[in-house]
Amino acid sequence: MLLFTLNAVPAVAIGYLLGMPVAPGMMVSFVVYFIANEEIHWRIHLGGWLPSWLEPARKHHLMHHSVPEARFNIFLPVSDFLFGPARSVAKINR
Ligand SMILES: [Zn+2]
Repeated sequence: MLLFTLNAVPAVAIGYLLGMPVAPGMMVSFVVYFIANEEIHWRIHLGGWLPSWLEPARKHHLMHHSVPEARFNIFLPVSDFLFGPARSVAKINR
């Protein structure tokens, strides 16, 4: 609840500055993201069905648990590649 409240403040402020109500869409997007995030995360750990395009995410995320200081993204490793944890793991695996 605190996370949604903290994110609602800038969303409402941005909507006010832009003169258009962007906060409702942003908050619905947050909810959809967090529900998908939790569902995919549990399916990765419990061996549940995932769409074929998310299967590489299972291996990527499980490597996070074997090397806890790396691979923080659950299904899209964008920030891992941008901020370096994936490169650190590559060095460890050499
Ligand atoms: Zn996990």
